Amino acid sequence: MNQTTRVMAASKNIALVAHDHYKPQLQTWVQTHKQQLGQHTLFATGTTGNILAKETGLAITPLISGPMGGDQQLGAMISEGKIDMLIFFWDPLNAVPHDPDVKALLRIASVWNIPVAANQASADFLIASPLFDTEVEITIPDYQSYLAERV
Ligand code: PGA
Repeated sequence: MNQTTRVMAASKNIALVAHDHYKPQLQTWVQTHKQQLGQHTLFATGTTGNILAKETGLAITPLISGPMGGDQQLGAMISEGKIDMLIFFWDPLNAVPHDPDVKALLRIASVWNIPVAANQASADFLIASPLFDTEVEITIPDYQSYLAERV
């Protein structure tokens, strides 16, 4: 696959998702980093987003709830280049009904090479990075050349 690049602005589109057992942990993390996160545009799956908006007062655009299609909605946005970073505290210890959607979301985040934090320590590293608040160029699949080879 040929590669091209895209530029992420200093102010990023960040998606926040937590499975039920990890919602309190994400809530604490968001509260801790509220000021820094407030400089960015925040999205979240339905339940996560409504809890975080209510508890932290941050402006967060809630998508559909994960088990009802929110993970797929987020995946579509990643494919369209509308999400720059995924903070996803998924649950490695409990089964969720939408496991295929979880896998699909993680897969599509890798396809489009966006930074992903799958747990709190990774999220701490991401938010401490100087790249978090600056313009960054990332490598992505060259979709136009992918299409040209096939059509
Ligand atoms: P929820 O979805 O925020 O609506 O609980 C989480 C998820 O995607 O599993």
